[in-house]
Amino acid sequence: MATIALTGSASGIGAAIRDRLDREGHRVIGVDLRDAEVEADLSTESGREQAMRGVRDACDQRLDGLVVCAGLGPQVADTRLIVSVNYFGAQALLAGLRDCLERGERAAAVAISSNSSRLPGVESPIVDACLAGDESAARREAESREGVFAYAGSKLALARWVRRNAPQAGWAGKGIRLNAVAPGTTMTPLLKEGLEDAQYSESIKTFPIPMGGYAQPDDIAAGVTFLLGPESAFCCGTVLYIDGGSDALFRPDEY
Ligand code: NAD
Repeated sequence: MATIALTGSASGIGAAIRDRLDREGHRVIGVDLRDAEVEADLSTESGREQAMRGVRDACDQRLDGLVVCAGLGPQVADTRLIVSVNYFGAQALLAGLRDCLERGERAAAVAISSNSSRLPGVESPIVDACLAGDESAARREAESREGVFAYAGSKLALARWVRRNAPQAGWAGKGIRLNAVAPGTTMTPLLKEGLEDAQYSESIKTFPIPMGGYAQPDDIAAGVTFLLGPESAFCCGTVLYIDGGSDALFRPDEY
């Protein structure tokens, strides 16, 4: 039985990950705004500290897995919140709980990015500010842009943070596998809000998905539990697309 901390555990993809881990007999320490073992707001520094204290107490400073899944969609009106939760809330826990993973067994961490992170036009000062660790600048940049750019920028920065850190001494060097999953359109409360949003509904409905339809949360959870478990023992710095073929459609030759 592994002990795994999971942010965003109360809803959607996070809840599906939790279900799978429960079924496999693992112990999950959920972190969310509500309905979780550790209730904390990952949009603020003090909330992140509270989350990490809560996880540390619950796991006795030893984790076998960490999944940072909590996130907000592009339709959230305050676009500053999107970068604060999606990038800074995720990155702070990955970096801040890394030492607990070091004490775990065959430990692994998974960040939930998005396939929208590689869409045209996503490169922006938001991405640079995130990766520079400058939350005030990232929030300022996000404030002046539409939610979709704050969203995709935060998810690109998160995947890049994973790629930059996974092979380093503190992660691979300690035997901790760090990887990301990039889901495509997945039927969750976040997507339902987007489908009801006047600005984003049409673009979501017409977004090309070669396999057709939307992912179910468990389709994404299957990839996450693979990256947490022993069958992905040699995966390090991977960004696993689970998106019905959209990324391949947009970027067939980027390999
Ligand atoms: P969801 O809204 O169902 O779940 C998100 C969870 O994050 C909720 O339980 C929510 O309470 C939590 N959360 C939000 N703000 C928080 C905060 N400040 N502090 C703590 N917890 C907070 O959404 P979902 O679709 O399951 O999304 C899960 C992740 O997957 C997100 O990071 C999202 O960006 C990503 N994703 C989703 C899709 C999709 O189509 N649904 C596609 C690509 C990526």
